[in-house]
Amino acid sequence: MNLSPEILSLRDDTVALRRDFHQHPELGFRETRTAGIVAERLRSLGLSVATGVATTGVIGLHGDAFGRAVLLRADMDALPLTEENEVAYASQNPGVMHACGHDGHTAMLLSVAKILSQTPAPRGVCYKFVFQPAEEGGGGARVMIDEGALRDPEVAVAVAAHLWNDLPVGKLGVRAGPVLASADHFVVTLTGKGGHGAMPHQTRDPIVVAAELILAWQTIVSRNVDPVDSAALTIGAVEAGTVANIIPDRARLKGTLRALSPATRQRVIDRVETILKGVTAAHELTHEFNFTTGYPPTVNTGEPTEVVRQAAVETVGAGNVVEQDLVMGAEDMSFFLQQVPGCFFVVGSRNEEKGLAAPHHNARFDFDEDALLVGAETMVRAARKLASQLAADGED
Ligand SMILES: [Zn+2]
Ligand SMILES: [Zn+2]
Repeated sequence: MNLSPEILSLRDDTVALRRDFHQHPELGFRETRTAGIVAERLRSLGLSVATGVATTGVIGLHGDAFGRAVLLRADMDALPLTEENEVAYASQNPGVMHACGHDGHTAMLLSVAKILSQTPAPRGVCYKFVFQPAEEGGGGARVMIDEGALRDPEVAVAVAAHLWNDLPVGKLGVRAGPVLASADHFVVTLTGKGGHGAMPHQTRDPIVVAAELILAWQTIVSRNVDPVDSAALTIGAVEAGTVANIIPDRARLKGTLRALSPATRQRVIDRVETILKGVTAAHELTHEFNFTTGYPPTVNTGEPTEVVRQAAVETVGAGNVVEQDLVMGAEDMSFFLQQVPGCFFVVGSRNEEKGLAAPHHNARFDFDEDALLVGAETMVRAARKLASQLAADGED
């Protein structure tokens, strides 16, 4: 492990800050206390600070405000979950918990900002520290982009780290190309004609059609998606009927779609709707299809990913940098990476010996705080490399 003295000197502060955020978790778009601390810290470093972006988002700038920017992102929101950890820094906000590590991301990026702001940014380059609200479903990143987070100064490259309990502390996961899936949701309402369970010929049974649809949709992933690509289609809710001998008028299905590329995502969505239309028409039912576009796939671009990989190797050694697992979960960092090149990487934070091994989004989630230093060190190194590349590009 190659942690610089400047990172090591911030250990106590970073951990204390993380524990403070952990004790006071806030849900998406309501991160007012957290955002207040972030803004105050950034101002105390002499950064120019914008607050209230996407309600509670904060942006700090260090460097040439008319230059090109290296964007570094942290998410600040917690989850609606009751913490079961018995630790001194446990959540004091009943029903809300930092169970994904965003408390750590916020503390980590504040330490990164502190270190990067101690020296001048290269000529023509600006570091843009973005603290976003509502990653967990609210799409805070998209709202920040809508409100101009990628402009003034214009962002050239974006990097984010996620603490990762699937990976032991001391390891880093980096991968070029897709790393996380898109996540879209839909609700289908089937309307037929109810009646007596003993006289089905007088009805148009939405339950039989729902059953046929659920199975027919399963052929999308098996028959329409390239076997070496990936997608997932899950019907997570089926609502219909009341008792055994009544055929109801209506049935409702709720599903989620995951895909690793924009093209596959679109193909799966199209097939869901085509099969829906065909099956309901065949059975003389009508349907409603309510589709909610969620997060796009998170796709890392080649060059900045190689820079992050290099920074990771310098921090933990080549043997501890692994190819990040492909996961069908989703992340709204994807909205930034749709617009600009960049990299989303993971920072190993599991420690079995210390009993810190619960999965993300679990009421017993906690992580090894040494990961904060590893993540911060990697981010600082990557940011400096990307900034000097931008400065060199500017001189050509
Ligand atoms: Zn999460
Ligand atoms: Zn998360």
